[in-house]
Amino acid sequence: MTDKKKPDTRLPEWAPKDAGSEFATRVVSGETKQHKAINENTHVSRSHGAVDIDKLFNGVVEGNITVLSKAITLIESNSHKHFEPAQELIKRLLPHAGKSIRIGITGVPGAGKSTFIETFGTWLIAQGHKVAVLAIDPSSTISKGSILGDKTRMEKLSRSQSSFIRPSPSSGVLGGVARKTRETIIACEAAGFDIILIETVGVGQSEVTVRSIVDFFMLMQITGAGDDLQGIKKGIMELADLVVVNKADGTNELKADTTKNELIQVLHYLQPATTGWNTPAMTCSALTGLNIPEIWEQISTFLSITRGNGVFEQRRSGQNLEWLDSMLTEALTQLFFHDKGIADSYNNSKKLILAGKLTPAIAAIKLIDMFKSTL
Ligand code: GDP
Repeated sequence: MTDKKKPDTRLPEWAPKDAGSEFATRVVSGETKQHKAINENTHVSRSHGAVDIDKLFNGVVEGNITVLSKAITLIESNSHKHFEPAQELIKRLLPHAGKSIRIGITGVPGAGKSTFIETFGTWLIAQGHKVAVLAIDPSSTISKGSILGDKTRMEKLSRSQSSFIRPSPSSGVLGGVARKTRETIIACEAAGFDIILIETVGVGQSEVTVRSIVDFFMLMQITGAGDDLQGIKKGIMELADLVVVNKADGTNELKADTTKNELIQVLHYLQPATTGWNTPAMTCSALTGLNIPEIWEQISTFLSITRGNGVFEQRRSGQNLEWLDSMLTEALTQLFFHDKGIADSYNNSKKLILAGKLTPAIAAIKLIDMFKSTL
């Protein structure tokens, strides 16, 4: 009651007990009330009541993780007054961004994504990379709960000075989350992270969304979980640049190999996700580290091929145009509902439609007319 304004900086329960200040979730845990409170109370740099863009910009380009966290909190804020400062910050960060490899990773819960990211990320850091891990968790936009955020994850990786782990933004429609993730990528790149791993669970449109913001998309499979090939969503295979059968260790190794061979057969008949690249399938073990360097080798080959034939650049340009469209949709929607009269009329129209007293088309025309008259 008394210290309502004071942001809660306790660690979420799934964070490592000895996590240092570099652990991003100390600042924002992503799915909790704490996050909402931070957003609402603007726990970002302020100067005389306004967001201090200079301070945020300088901190981010210097690679200061605490400032990066604050910058992302500003980006993720749903508050109307944060929109412009956030966009100003992004504009300034953009020339410093774009130099990373953006890798999407999807798979059902339990496939081993977080274990894989822990192992792969730690390996990448040992090779001299700086790794940021972001998540798009559609479950957190639908319910207050979260598939990705509630467990102890990536303990070793999160302790490295060369890593930055950020849970999924918790509120808003998926489109808004995608935009925020794009902007978060820009901030991470400007802070010097050269590999961005974006994890998602295959719910709803999340895979398509992640595909639309990454350079390389990886599908993680497991064997023997009743997920025989017909259970795998074919559409998702068609989005993938690499299919990996995880948990190829112990008694499961042979089975994983069989699944991999079956997947190769299936992939043979599918349209590849990226022109000029035949999506391979391979096994790996996030636990033993089997094929971890080989996965990076595949990604590197992919990069040299797609950079060579221009597909990499084409994809990024296309994604920028998609970003424009989603930005426009979001901005227009915000503008539309910002008018109290329209928002009230919209809610009223919904009631009338449900009562059978108004058709959706007439309601839409009336609302648009109302909106036009406010311009
Ligand atoms: P996520 O839900 O996809 O993020 O999956 P997790 O990374 O949480 O892993 C789910 C379970 O599978 C955990 O108990 C992990 O220890 C286990 N697991 C993950 N990778 C491997 C692996 O390569 N081999 C084996 N044997 N188990 C694994």
